[in-house]
Amino acid sequence: MDVINIIEKLYKTNDASKEELLYLLDNIDENSKELLIKRANETRKKYYKNKVYMRGLIELTSFCKKNCLYCGLRRHNKNADRYRLTLDEILECVRKGDKLGYKTFVLQGGEDEYFTDDKMVEIIKAIKSEFPDNAITLSLGERSYDSYKKMYDAGADRYLLRHESASKELYESIHPGEPFEKRRNCLKNLKDIGYQSGAGFMVGIPGQTNEDLVNDLRFVKEFEPAMCGIGPFIPHKDTPLRNYEHGSLEKTVICLAIVRLLLPKVLLPATTALSSIDPKGREEGLKAGGNVIMPNLSPMSVRKKYSLYDNKAYILDEDAEYRTMIEQKINEAGYEVEVSRGDNPEFRK
Ligand code: SAH
Ligand code: SF4
Repeated sequence: MDVINIIEKLYKTNDASKEELLYLLDNIDENSKELLIKRANETRKKYYKNKVYMRGLIELTSFCKKNCLYCGLRRHNKNADRYRLTLDEILECVRKGDKLGYKTFVLQGGEDEYFTDDKMVEIIKAIKSEFPDNAITLSLGERSYDSYKKMYDAGADRYLLRHESASKELYESIHPGEPFEKRRNCLKNLKDIGYQSGAGFMVGIPGQTNEDLVNDLRFVKEFEPAMCGIGPFIPHKDTPLRNYEHGSLEKTVICLAIVRLLLPKVLLPATTALSSIDPKGREEGLKAGGNVIMPNLSPMSVRKKYSLYDNKAYILDEDAEYRTMIEQKINEAGYEVEVSRGDNPEFRK
């Protein structure tokens, strides 16, 4: 086996075996990394040119009933500052976003039972009645089939539910008491219902090996999500994983590039987590095949409270109002901001 051949095969066939992916991760060096990124960038250009899609992120709630070991919103974190947005506050964010050209709103939050199906249906319908042409993406964790279906029927278009890790042992080690199969089943339900679904994983989870990352890459290839969120693990000071190192920029960028090659049409964000570990994170993510960014539309007053990990980038300085500044930076990096809904061409409702 040879790293260059594996990259060229990935580029030509959009596929590689477990063994080839592992060989690639184990043996990639500076030269071959450059080729990988070049090929990923070319692949993105085939379908999306140099467009970067913008999603306005609205952080609904910092309450969460889960206890994921890595996350600052986990239930057992007594230091977390909890809040919930009201319907009016959500609509204000949405109006501000629409004015600035955000045609997709991502409603994200902890798993908060306050946001019942009825409440979510009310929110989704209120947004859709005012902005029927804008897309709504939900990211509210694990819920029942019926719940996902009700929200879809109310008008939600997409759902982000990262699988987090496709290795059962590693998954269960960071999600105590949470069966591995449950989250994967949720992803299957979302797809069956008709959502444009997003899987994804963290890079650099304590104890994660290249074999684990290969499982993630193969899972993503086989599940074929419309979107895929990949970001480095970053420690949060009030969690049990506080003393571990964050995942590396380099490894994350390599995974982004491989996912672009495995799924040429996937919508792939250069995540805030990536920008949070390195000021060049966003640019590097875009260069490696990323084509989505998710600027924050949440009210300033709650930004610091939605604390998944420490040192989150753009907490206060990148808001909808900074749209021109964001656009400028994207242009400087050689890309163009696209303000349409930005559906995955294979998954439009
Ligand atoms: N509660 C929902 C959505 C909010 S969390 C859910 O869990 O799906 C959104 C994403 O943030 C998670 O999928 C996870 O991958 C990421 N995240 C949480 N804590 C993190 C950390 N410490 N470092 C990096 N990413 C983290
Ligand atoms: Fe809750 Fe999501 Fe954080 Fe887990 S990752 S504790 S489900 S907000």
